[in-house]
Amino acid sequence: MTEEKILNEIDKHREDYITFLRELIATESYNPPGNEKNVALKIEKYLKDVGIGCEIFPFGDNRANLIAFLNDNFKGKNLLYNAHMDVVPPGIEEEWKYPPLSAFIKRKKYMYGRGTVDMKAALAAMVISLTILEKIGIKTSRNLIVNAVADEETGGTLGTGWCLENILKPRSIKCDFVLIGEPSGLSPLPKTIIFGEKGHLLIKVITNGKSAHSMVPFMGENAIYMMSKIIENLDTLDEFVPKVDPPLSLEELKKLINKVFPNEEIFNRIYNDQPLLRNIMKSLTLFTKSLNMIEGGIKENVIPDHCEAIIDFRLLPGQTAGMILEGLKKLIDHIGFEVQDISSDVPKEVFVSLEIYHDGPSSIWKEYHKSEMVKKLKEVVEKVYNRESFFFIAPGATDAHFYRNSGYCEKTIHFGPGSANEMHAINENIEIQDYIDAIKIYTLFGYNYLNYK
Ligand SMILES: [Zn+2]
Repeated sequence: MTEEKILNEIDKHREDYITFLRELIATESYNPPGNEKNVALKIEKYLKDVGIGCEIFPFGDNRANLIAFLNDNFKGKNLLYNAHMDVVPPGIEEEWKYPPLSAFIKRKKYMYGRGTVDMKAALAAMVISLTILEKIGIKTSRNLIVNAVADEETGGTLGTGWCLENILKPRSIKCDFVLIGEPSGLSPLPKTIIFGEKGHLLIKVITNGKSAHSMVPFMGENAIYMMSKIIENLDTLDEFVPKVDPPLSLEELKKLINKVFPNEEIFNRIYNDQPLLRNIMKSLTLFTKSLNMIEGGIKENVIPDHCEAIIDFRLLPGQTAGMILEGLKKLIDHIGFEVQDISSDVPKEVFVSLEIYHDGPSSIWKEYHKSEMVKKLKEVVEKVYNRESFFFIAPGATDAHFYRNSGYCEKTIHFGPGSANEMHAINENIEIQDYIDAIKIYTLFGYNYLNYK
């Protein structure tokens, strides 16, 4: 079968594919609590109808991971597609124009609903690509695996992390290349192929002072004042953290994007008119921090002995939670406060304690530009979209770090339908053509991989 024939076939079955996506959107899998098993059962049925092998791994209360494969031979080379089945809760449902589970189609062009973008469209497209490749019946020692996972929206340890440690590694399934279907569109830019991502770290800072009546404030040690000293000095943290270069400088990023515009003038106009684009590009090249929550004090006339705040850090690839924690300790020490473990044996009265609240590590595939497979993926993306695409890093963490940082498969790329601006939004929606195009891309890329001699 030629590539053109495959693309025509996909266009012919468009309505069936839309129906399958609507079914997945209508299947509730809000996380928390998860309920991914409902989605896994729908996928299992869809795959079994065409005779594709599929295993469900249930856990917890109505949760599950799923793995499906083109054939039983994992000894040759394997290509892995990863998509998560859980979605974030809808928030206030009354604020939605169309109910979040309705999968409402507007003007035959857009589909609305929680998970349309993040990321049931990619999930459906990956599953469908497997069925198309099965029907083509390619004879090869190579294999395509689809791993539909739970838990991504709450850290991924029970989803991608679990599958890696309990299915892929114990069964000695090695992967050549992993493709994660998270939305990679950055509207109004052309399609992006993502090879790395910033980390997301939250650290809770607790200042422990000494309570006193505020008639005699000098008897106490005001925990809010302690915190304010830390806040005042937060910008100097960079001096205490090892310096890491961004994977791409702002100038390099601009050059990459510039290439896909007809000329520099048009690019500059968009760059200047779009504060979102400008600021995303800036943030991708920097280690950033922001203190976003603070709580302290119990009464208006009591010197507070306790204040806590959460600082949100976005890490560049190469930076780790340990580095930031160490840097923060040095900074606080420099200010003149003692940093101490809360569980320490000899507790001091006045001290600061630090606690990692969330750690979504950064990750990167440094040598992506040398890969033939990446080149092929870019070719396929450009063929389907008929527009030049470009490489980029992502501002937020996906499950990619499980593959890249564990040494299992550094060659992990993230590419998927939908625009990242729609993720977790009220009225989340996807352009239906974008979804159909993703089916084409996953199918053609898989087809090329399986036929590789
Ligand atoms: Zn996602």
